[in-house]
Amino acid sequence: MANLLIVGPPGAGKGTQAARLAAALRVPAVSTGDIFRQNIKEQTELGKRVTAILDAGEYVPDELTNELVDDRLAQPDAERGYLLDGYPRTAGQVEYLDGVNLRRGEQLDAVVRLIADTDEVVRRLSARALEQGRSDDTEEVIRHRLDVYERETAPLIAIFEERGLVVEVDGIGAVDEVTERILAGLAARGIEA
Ligand code: ADP
Repeated sequence: MANLLIVGPPGAGKGTQAARLAAALRVPAVSTGDIFRQNIKEQTELGKRVTAILDAGEYVPDELTNELVDDRLAQPDAERGYLLDGYPRTAGQVEYLDGVNLRRGEQLDAVVRLIADTDEVVRRLSARALEQGRSDDTEEVIRHRLDVYERETAPLIAIFEERGLVVEVDGIGAVDEVTERILAGLAARGIEA
């Protein structure tokens, strides 16, 4: 049983690590970005509403994002916990998630903070743009996403620090090494599979 977040700038490797941690800890990795992209691909109503927002590197409005997360965390596989990737990203989302946890009679157990410097994340995102062709991975949109992250999301980490929840991990190095560092950090807090 563990309720976890993974936070860090775009390109820090959250998605890659989230999948591995989720498998190791047997909780679902829930990525709001992946859910939005899936909806865009399938051209659902939600997808149509958020296409232009994602392409511009802006944040989807809180009402839409919060409802999406609420629905996802109500699925049976999230009963033993969850690992959220890319959420919460705004102060309103932090507050909303607190409400969700309160209703579950639970709390957050830890927040994994992946550290990666700007040069490295721009390099990674540009490489991913070539490999995956994500429409929000153009240089201009990447820069904008980093700006929005610094302005809206980075300041929220202080809230989790005050609550004593943050496990800081260096995100630079081989993927396996980074996973080991995170698992060691979580184990030190008694969070293990
Ligand atoms: P990255 O962290 O690499 O920029 P994500 O896959 O996490 O990418 O998210 C991609 C896009 O999806 C964001 O730029 C934003 O438009 C939207 N998005 C994802 N999560 C949220 C969220 N919690 N609140 C608002 N918008 C979000």
